[in-house]
Amino acid sequence: MNTHFTAAVVGGGPAGLAAALALSAAGCDVLLAAPPHRAHGGAPDNRTAALFAGSIALLKNLDAWERIASHSAPITGIRIIDDTGGLLRAPELVFTAAEIDLDAFGWNVPNSALTAGLIEVAQRTGSRVRLHSTAGIVKAEIGASAVTLTTHEGATFTAGLVVGADGRGSLCRQAAGIGTRSWTYAQSAIATSFQHGRPHRNLSTEFHRPAGPFTTVPLKGLASSLVWVERPDEAQRLAALDEPAFRAVLEERLTGLLGPVGEITSRAVFPLSGLTAEAFGRNRVALVGEAGHVIPPIGAQGLNLGLRDAATLADCVADARAAEQDVGSAAVLDAYSARRRIDVTSRIATVDVLNRSLISALGPVHLARGLGLVALKTLGPLRRIAVREGLAPASADADLLHPDGARRLSERASGAARHSAA
Ligand SMILES: Cc1cc2nc3c(=O)[nH]c(=O)nc-3n(C[C@H](O)[C@H](O)[C@H](O)COP(=O)(O)OP(=O)(O)OC[C@H]3O[C@@H](n4cnc5c(N)ncnc54)[C@H](O)[C@@H]3O)c2cc1C
Repeated sequence: MNTHFTAAVVGGGPAGLAAALALSAAGCDVLLAAPPHRAHGGAPDNRTAALFAGSIALLKNLDAWERIASHSAPITGIRIIDDTGGLLRAPELVFTAAEIDLDAFGWNVPNSALTAGLIEVAQRTGSRVRLHSTAGIVKAEIGASAVTLTTHEGATFTAGLVVGADGRGSLCRQAAGIGTRSWTYAQSAIATSFQHGRPHRNLSTEFHRPAGPFTTVPLKGLASSLVWVERPDEAQRLAALDEPAFRAVLEERLTGLLGPVGEITSRAVFPLSGLTAEAFGRNRVALVGEAGHVIPPIGAQGLNLGLRDAATLADCVADARAAEQDVGSAAVLDAYSARRRIDVTSRIATVDVLNRSLISALGPVHLARGLGLVALKTLGPLRRIAVREGLAPASADADLLHPDGARRLSERASGAARHSAA
């Protein structure tokens, strides 16, 4: 049995699975060592993720989109309702994808369907990804030319490059000696999904409330997912209500927008926090997804960032392969880290400012946010730039984020792109 791989991914959440397939598209033999994916707290992942064009292009390039799309719903509009109760109430805003010549801003994808779809691709005959089921990696020892991973069951594997996709408490990050900056918010998010009587018309609705946003995102049919941000004690109280009582408060919050609320899935509470690694790669370890950055679930940025990590790492590894370099070398990891820094830092800052402007008790902050929203509503070009930048940041680019990216990446890895440019 082969125990040495070009690259090994630790963690089988959406970011890890995408990274494993992206690296295989760059020509690597990849080990993916992971337990069955669970959200925080050990329960099945009941979250959904609104994924934008670059992420969808990545999933198409990995040949996973077809099987995921049938579980997902397009988001063609975003409605923002000021429910802060401030003196200057911002006007209701609706951004439509058609305004920026798109069919949809993105798609709302259940995490369970996303991980199942990616696993199916990895399991296909001829796949370069070997899935190794384990209760977890317990040790990562960094050597001069490879990293040795030890599983909970005592198996060992080596790889020239290890991808830490093992979430916010990342063992790989610690093994590589990468420090972090982390912070918390006095807020928690309740995540659930529900059926409703009226069609959502593929609109996502954000109620901006003093405790944080309350956001519905369309799912297939007469159903939506919900991310409801509240003070931590209130979030716990609401999540613990029995179903009829939770339905009653949900209907009250929705003010009839989606009609009567039907079946509600299990509720999970996620404390809001932030984290950023001081580098996204060092000592043969590259960090992707929440191992490298955690961002509150506001504005649907977290997993979109994680998937851009996977696509960018694939570019860097393809370049190394074309130059016949060691894929885990400091040069590759420095290049990866530098390419991810602006995107991650700017997303964290934007989400932080938006969140703090909502929960601030200060009148001037509300005024500024209100005026900002008025400007966005009235100024056509500004609105287009703001929406486009939120969807496809100019600071992040990689082959797999574009249509036809798999071919471009494979040419890059074989050195064809370099030769034709020369
Ligand atoms: C309520 C909510 C709503 C959200 N909505 C959106 C959205 O609309 N759009 C968006 O882009 N993002 C959204 N996000 C963010 C998104 O859910 C996360 O960014 C994403 O799930 C992170 O994926 P990950 O693979 O990096 O980490 P995780 O999902 O945490 O996966 C890490 C995996 O690593 C495994 N692991 C841990 N330690 C080890 C080990 N030692 N060995 C092996 N495996 C290990 C774990 O079992 C787990 O499967 C939302 C988040 C929340 C909380």
